[in-house]
Amino acid sequence: NAPTNPDAAVRGTDSDALLSRHSAASLGYLDDPFSALFLSPAQRRTPERRPPLINIGTHARTWAVDELVEQFLLQREVGDSSSGRAKACQVLSLGAGTDTRFWRLRKKWEAEGREWTCRKWVEVDFPEATGSKARAVSGKAELKSRLGGDVKIEQGGLGLSSPLYALLPGDLRHLDALSTSLLSPPAYSTTSASIEPILLPSLPTLLLLECVLVYLPPPDTDTILRWFASNFAPGSAVVSYDPFGLDDSFGKVMRRNLALRSLTLPGADSTPTLASLTSRLQNNGITGSTGSMSVREIRDEVVPVEEKERVSKLENLDEVEELNLVLEHYAVTWGNVGEDGRGIGSKGW
Ligand code: SAM
Repeated sequence: NAPTNPDAAVRGTDSDALLSRHSAASLGYLDDPFSALFLSPAQRRTPERRPPLINIGTHARTWAVDELVEQFLLQREVGDSSSGRAKACQVLSLGAGTDTRFWRLRKKWEAEGREWTCRKWVEVDFPEATGSKARAVSGKAELKSRLGGDVKIEQGGLGLSSPLYALLPGDLRHLDALSTSLLSPPAYSTTSASIEPILLPSLPTLLLLECVLVYLPPPDTDTILRWFASNFAPGSAVVSYDPFGLDDSFGKVMRRNLALRSLTLPGADSTPTLASLTSRLQNNGITGSTGSMSVREIRDEVVPVEEKERVSKLENLDEVEELNLVLEHYAVTWGNVGEDGRGIGSKGW
């Protein structure tokens, strides 16, 4: 029953990501009590246990992206909280789907007794996705209670606003409209608190692009990156997670599997490589330090030994070669907008 509308097929990829996160969380790979709250009634009735290979991949990719996001948030803690400017950064996650990172990190930071440094965490996706996420978030106490106060449903049910978190419907291929919604003060406002735009360009901002650019035509990706680099303060950064190297034999299988689900991959037509993933950032104005690593390299060389040991006890993995083949086709890429001496990835990855 593959959807025939290409945009519906692209939106459907989030359901896959959600089921993978839920599977990994329920088996102990991830500390994520929140993914279950986004399952549809049908998804809840058939809890899907993914194969070990998928769970391990989900763990490695989530670990790596979390690490870079936390590096960014933690840098903002240094110096800023003592000067009374604790909430000195922002996160903009495009194509966020049902991602639960905001709640996972809030929970972790709460447990560690850390002050949250992020003024606003904003997620954008197609209206269908943000509408159903807005319903889930506003209807579940575990999610709503971490948003820092008053939660409002916006845009006829398609968006949500709150002191710390916002959901905005939009099409990433139409950046002008999105840019206006993100950066302009609301046209009409009854309280002084809502006069500010959703995002303040003067604050260092992290652009999170987890498994989304592959679905966009490359010129639209370039437009997004250039817009980001030219609008946000030095100290801003980009993290993306993407498939790459899809022109080898395994990559062709990956493409075929995706095509079977009526997906086109405009962002993969030029078959990105690790080098082109970083030069894509540099060519679009992300001129601070950049880097890109395959998830296989990250798992082999960066994930701490204790974490790998913990995870290896959760399930038996028979398909080690296949795991490595899959992880060699996904990369985490990072880049800094200018240098303010604190960039992410400065530990060498
Ligand atoms: N970032 C989430 C994650 O890693 O779990 C979801 C990834 S999912 C594979 C891709 C997401 O990008 C989907 O939620 C899809 O709706 C969104 N997306 C793709 N193209 C988009 C576009 N043109 N405008 C808005 N969202 C888009």
